[in-house]
Amino acid sequence: MAASRKKPNILLIAVDSLLSTHMSCYGYPKLTSPHLDEFAKSATLFENTFCPHVPTTSAYASMLTGRDCFGTEVVALRHKGPLTDKVRTLAEILRDNGYASTCVGFTGNSSSRGFDNYLDYEAWETGAAYLPKAQSLNNVALPELERLSKSGQPWFVMLRHMDPHSPYLPPEPFNRIFYQGDEFDPANKSMDPVYAFKPFRDYFMHWIPPGVTDKDYVIAQYDGAIAYMDACIQGIFEKLETLGVADDTIVALNGDHGETLYDHECWFDHHGTYDVTLRVPLIIRYAKKLPAGRRIAGYNQHKDLAPTLLELAGVKTKDKFDGTSLIKLVNGKATSFESEFYITECTWMRKHGWRTPQWKLIVALEPDFHFKPPVELYDLVKDPDENVNLVHRHPDIVAALTARMEAFIAKREKALGITNPMLTQDDWHGYGCGPFTSSRQAYDTLHIGDAAAARKLQARSRAKKKKKKK
Ligand SMILES: [Zn+2]
Repeated sequence: MAASRKKPNILLIAVDSLLSTHMSCYGYPKLTSPHLDEFAKSATLFENTFCPHVPTTSAYASMLTGRDCFGTEVVALRHKGPLTDKVRTLAEILRDNGYASTCVGFTGNSSSRGFDNYLDYEAWETGAAYLPKAQSLNNVALPELERLSKSGQPWFVMLRHMDPHSPYLPPEPFNRIFYQGDEFDPANKSMDPVYAFKPFRDYFMHWIPPGVTDKDYVIAQYDGAIAYMDACIQGIFEKLETLGVADDTIVALNGDHGETLYDHECWFDHHGTYDVTLRVPLIIRYAKKLPAGRRIAGYNQHKDLAPTLLELAGVKTKDKFDGTSLIKLVNGKATSFESEFYITECTWMRKHGWRTPQWKLIVALEPDFHFKPPVELYDLVKDPDENVNLVHRHPDIVAALTARMEAFIAKREKALGITNPMLTQDDWHGYGCGPFTSSRQAYDTLHIGDAAAARKLQARSRAKKKKKKK
């Protein structure tokens, strides 16, 4: 095949738990992402990209199939069984179009089906004070990019970065760049409620240095992890240049979901459907088809990513996506996709809701372990941090949003001939006791454990596979 007719490579940098609002190119006042800021100047940046289906497993399912949660039938972190064979993944579509593919750092998750190769790196705590996740990723990804680029085949590589995902353990000097205080100050009580939260306490004790009293220190470790990862990602950009493939590679950076740091009592995790968890960064560079330095304000979601990458690559497919190519927003054929949409969470709580540009409705499908009210309503214009629950002040708006949500669910159930997957997740929490009947029961039951247990939550079959190899 002549070089000029070869399809472009696709590099998907999929960062776990990355708060776009903590990236300098998205307006964060601290310089956490200088290399990605430069990258964004040569790329198109989307300011309003949402992860409607929290957390990891459901988010990647949507990103990698172009479907919403009714199309993927995946809503839970601990999704049981494989991804439905009713849909093809991006890797499977690209394979049928002559692409070689490799997935780095997401082996064994049902949402990562269809890659030729799976490579892993250490992204969880090993007992060391610092965890150089992004460099460990580079150690396996850079040789793989070289191998694939020399193969003559177009390639699709997904890199799942884990630095902003807890444990936040950036190496020196990134651990001190954003913090110069005394993290052990006994007068500071800000970490007391974090340590008092029993379901996560053992996990925090496993990686937060003993005696840390200042929440801002932990937040600075999160920011430092972004900055550390940002520096390592520059090594990937340099590799594309060195290999001479930068102009022929579509590079997309996307997040799976955000992170709740000290907000909403969700404590350094990514559950809840507050905007800190729903908003994700999306930056795409492909100079041949996308303008440099453009910022797109229109709403879009994870389900739009796969059709976008396929259109940019010139790959035609008969797959019927739920999402729409973002090229329509770039070339002005649309100013926004859906500005109101269905949101779900099935990690540590089972909740769903409806988000409009002004309102956020959150409805609990069973009592949660934070003892939160069963229904929450926030005015995103007057209260963007979602701190004042207006459910009793605006019952009319609650009713209107509930009706819109239920009409949407009914429409999608009818179109696909399925029951809403939020209602069919038996044992979503993995404890075998069915839906919780009280917040007290949820609080007393749910427990992360240590980092090794946390890792297992995301890749249950991984250990089994490794054992088989021995
Ligand atoms: Zn995640």
